[in-house]
Amino acid sequence: MSTILPAVSSNVAPRMPGDVMIPVPARVAQIAKETHDTFTLSIEPANGTDLVPFLPGQFSMLYVFGIGELPISICGDPEDPGRLVYTVRSVGKATHALVTRKEGDGIGVRGPFGTNWPLTAARGKDVLVVAGGIGLAPLRPAIYHILRHRGDYRRLVVLYGARSPGDLLYKKQLTAWGYVPDTQVLITVDYGGLSWRGYVGVVTTLFRYIRLQPDRTVALVCGPEIMMRYVVRELETRGLASDSIHLSMERNMKCAVGFCGHCQFGPHFICKDGPIFPYTQMRPWLDKYEL
Ligand SMILES: Cc1cc2nc3c(=O)[nH]c(=O)nc-3n(C[C@H](O)[C@H](O)[C@H](O)COP(=O)(O)OP(=O)(O)OC[C@H]3O[C@@H](n4cnc5c(N)ncnc54)[C@H](O)[C@@H]3O)c2cc1C
Repeated sequence: MSTILPAVSSNVAPRMPGDVMIPVPARVAQIAKETHDTFTLSIEPANGTDLVPFLPGQFSMLYVFGIGELPISICGDPEDPGRLVYTVRSVGKATHALVTRKEGDGIGVRGPFGTNWPLTAARGKDVLVVAGGIGLAPLRPAIYHILRHRGDYRRLVVLYGARSPGDLLYKKQLTAWGYVPDTQVLITVDYGGLSWRGYVGVVTTLFRYIRLQPDRTVALVCGPEIMMRYVVRELETRGLASDSIHLSMERNMKCAVGFCGHCQFGPHFICKDGPIFPYTQMRPWLDKYEL
């Protein structure tokens, strides 16, 4: 089977061969610390089988045997066929088990699942990426794709907010991306501390430093729901059409294929209708706090 990324052309996810509910054995190839609670791990197939290609924005179900299974976004380069890469924040039992795996340890993997960032529709346009915290992880494959196909897109602007300088992911890459022509990377933190020389404030405070041309901009947004609400408000105030805004939604899930209903959000299942949605579909539901 080919391990090359298929054309980024639709919301049809490539499916794992065989039963989508059966985890495929994989091995942790590398694990590296990003922050005090967040690690990036690469996995490779345990049995010499090929990895299933993924589209930017899709996720896998990772199974730590005997502990639990959880959805994690694929955050590596979609055109690097050898490994699947994930950045995981340790918040509970399964994520803790995942980030404490050692190189060579086995895990199970299902997927990739879900919809992808609309990178075909964004061709010829400016792309605005707005990320909060771990939300940069599902956006990173989209950034890789745009940088690999730089001529297909106009300006790339990345706005990234984290709690503190110590919580910033992919620091070296963020710096490197900022040097690419027609690419702007702005970072802010909620609390800077004495040694921080950058911006302080929530991610929406960065909008004042960018020039947005709403009729030719596609916005890709991922972060805590409260952050996405304010980002959408800011984008609409600046004239961006709601169908040019795309959000990655997160809900606890079990099956990842629309059987169990755990991840239902209004009429949508985050696992199979999302996680990436145009804001037009999320608008009636995003402001309902109890959902
Ligand atoms: C499509 C998708 C992609 C994701 N991608 C990533 C990723 O790239 N990196 C990453 O670190 N995490 C990601 N997550 C979140 C991750 O799946 C959860 O953090 C994980 O399931 C928590 O499991 P746990 O057993 O460690 O924690 P638990 O013990 O189950 O929970 C610990 C705490 O986290 C809360 N929590 C658990 N799951 C979720 C959830 N889905 N949304 C919000 N709060 C939750 C619980 O309420 C509790 O407060 C993603 C989730 C989804 C749905």
